[in-house]
Amino acid sequence: MNTIRNTKVYILNLGKLECDENWMVAMSTVATKDNKNVATHWVEIPVYAVLIDHPEGKILFDLGCHPQASEGHWCPELVNIFPFTFAEHQRLENQLKLVNIRPEDITTVILSHMHLDHIGNIDLFKHAEVYVSRKEFEYAKTLVHSNQDPKSHGAYIKSEVVAPVKCYHLLNEDTEIFPGIEFIALPGHTAGSSGLIVHLEKEGVLIFPMDAIYNKTVYGPPARASGLVYDSIAFFKSIERVRSLAKKYQAQVMFSHDMAVFENMKKAPDYYC
Ligand SMILES: [Zn+2]
Repeated sequence: MNTIRNTKVYILNLGKLECDENWMVAMSTVATKDNKNVATHWVEIPVYAVLIDHPEGKILFDLGCHPQASEGHWCPELVNIFPFTFAEHQRLENQLKLVNIRPEDITTVILSHMHLDHIGNIDLFKHAEVYVSRKEFEYAKTLVHSNQDPKSHGAYIKSEVVAPVKCYHLLNEDTEIFPGIEFIALPGHTAGSSGLIVHLEKEGVLIFPMDAIYNKTVYGPPARASGLVYDSIAFFKSIERVRSLAKKYQAQVMFSHDMAVFENMKKAPDYYC
């Protein structure tokens, strides 16, 4: 795999979710005879997108949450389980503005999966070529079209999953979408969860497993299940796949929802290159 020159990777800070830690790491609090009413941990987790300024186009990997998530775009039950908050400067448009890019300048969107905290701003990218796993696309479409409730499909939002874009490119397998940018299948979290490997000239290889690996604890070793898993056997296989790719490429693994790790990432307008 060749590295890519003249490419910058920006981490866009899109706000935070809060939730019970058991969603992140399953069984992180467990009752015992001596402590039957064990206290759960309420945690804050980051939401971010990855902007890749590449010689062949401006690429966004994931899109964060819809800005009206807590004002009716999500159903109240979801808002209660996963409250989402962001400051004005953490709007996706404003994060792009930090590097003088407008949503219209984005040519390509790549989705790790179609959950509400990864596809929320899809409305801004009607003009874009969108890449996603075929399995994810088919699963999400089936779910939102076969449910009476327009807003409740687990973590999929109908209006987001069916939003029009210029063209969907449905990927059946690992694909080098652009030179130095590999889309990899990491199923388990959802039917078609995927990650991205970026081969940079100076800073080496970055692996973004997105929700295949939420945080350091899930990664281990040993790997731990998260609280939301579509296929547990595939989930653990995907984690071990990332581990072996990280070893092969001496890569940095960029977890999706780990606040401590996120705090140490370079954030836009700073970048990896
Ligand atoms: Zn997520």
